Amino acid sequence: MAKEDYIATIGLEVHVQLKTQSKMFCGCPVKFAEPPNTLTCPTCLGLPGALPVLNGGAIERTILAGQLLGCETPEVVKWDRKNYFYPDMPKNYQISQFDLPLCLGGGVPLYDLAYPKDAQKDIANPGKVVKLTRIHLEEDVAKSTHHSTFTTIDFNRAGTPLMEIVSEPDIDSPEEAFAYLNSLRQILIYGDLSDADMEKGQMRCDVNVSVRPKGQEELGVKIELKNLNSVSAVRRSLHYEIARQIEACENGETLIQSTRRWDDDLGETSEMRTKEAAHDYRYFPDPDLLPVRTAVMVAKVQINLPELPHTKVARFESDYDITHYDASVLASERALADFYEAAAKGVKSPKKVANWVINNLLAFLNEQSLTIDECPVAPEKIGVLVDLVEAGTISNNQAKEVFAALLETPDEEPAAIAKAKGFEPADAGEIDSFIDQAIEANSGPAQEVRDGNDKAANFLTGQVMKLSRGKANPKVVTETILQKLRS
Ligand code: ZN
Ligand code: MN
Repeated sequence: MAKEDYIATIGLEVHVQLKTQSKMFCGCPVKFAEPPNTLTCPTCLGLPGALPVLNGGAIERTILAGQLLGCETPEVVKWDRKNYFYPDMPKNYQISQFDLPLCLGGGVPLYDLAYPKDAQKDIANPGKVVKLTRIHLEEDVAKSTHHSTFTTIDFNRAGTPLMEIVSEPDIDSPEEAFAYLNSLRQILIYGDLSDADMEKGQMRCDVNVSVRPKGQEELGVKIELKNLNSVSAVRRSLHYEIARQIEACENGETLIQSTRRWDDDLGETSEMRTKEAAHDYRYFPDPDLLPVRTAVMVAKVQINLPELPHTKVARFESDYDITHYDASVLASERALADFYEAAAKGVKSPKKVANWVINNLLAFLNEQSLTIDECPVAPEKIGVLVDLVEAGTISNNQAKEVFAALLETPDEEPAAIAKAKGFEPADAGEIDSFIDQAIEANSGPAQEVRDGNDKAANFLTGQVMKLSRGKANPKVVTETILQKLRS
């Protein structure tokens, strides 16, 4: 059989560190890059006799995640001990949720721009929503660092609230897995639930993948991939692993359920361990924690739901009269969307501001590898700058120069920079005489304009721009030419 005769099935388990002030079951602060083992107490060190206390903020944030992803929250949820021997977890169990998690069902909508750039033109299933099984809340483990002959352990991370988002085996390709992670991250950031940076370990992903011949109902042998530290690593590892599994099937090998490790430098997976059967975690209800009734918290969360990316896109399209694509670009990051709205506030043409942000500002930020939060220029000044063009005070090319200067001296006002550069609106009488000159010298094109050809007007405008040495505003010139020749 050929490669095309197989289908892949992918499911993702994503752990996300929640943005909370304190840990899940104690009052220790959640902070990064502090000296090791300085943010600990008997509870998060797992010392005998220490008792856990629930973090209500973490529970509310998990419920909010569920609300944003269309999940149901059971009326009562409970806490269970998940037992295993683990060097990072001195209690030798993790407090997690087994049969009554905070969220059930729901799904992650895949946004077009969340796909890899090279795959956006060719999306197999546009508008797909990947089904979720559940989201539960648990505690993070400590962080081990392996040295040459010994290992150190830092308990600052132990007990950080960790949300586990489990998808159904509903993802069909490495590109969909990539889009899933980006879309999920976007929604979590919109909800201010986590920074969800995979490279910083705030979002960690385990992948399950199997292949089977087309037409076969039963899923193939499930293989788990570990050590995936970026969204693109997930995509690459899946491409490798799907090809490997298909080749194994073609060679008549029997795949066995196992866990494989992705090596990002080599670009291949290798076997870590084969799974005997499903792990026996001997879950049982944690006797130190009472079940939680959720109704009050669900109601509280629902009062103040943040706008979701796709809702924002629709609103931008109608409020600002911009294209779906532009709205999607602007809403692809919450910070960028906020920047645009601040820039477009009260301006003559929000559409022009959108163009400016997308074409000029984002290009600059990309070039300099800056995030929108690091943008030196205040959004309001972008709005003012675009207004100067709209008012005919400066031309578009002059505005680009003002913008470049503004990036150097962001405290200055765009109008002041324009004035200092001598970008005053050209003398109207002078421009008017240039227009008359251009019409007189180009009787052919002038006649074409009279006959209704707009392109010929552009030619005349070009002549006026030359005569005025770029000082005239091309938009105003074209309007005047049309007025003169067609009235
Ligand atoms: Zn603690
Ligand atoms: Mn987990």
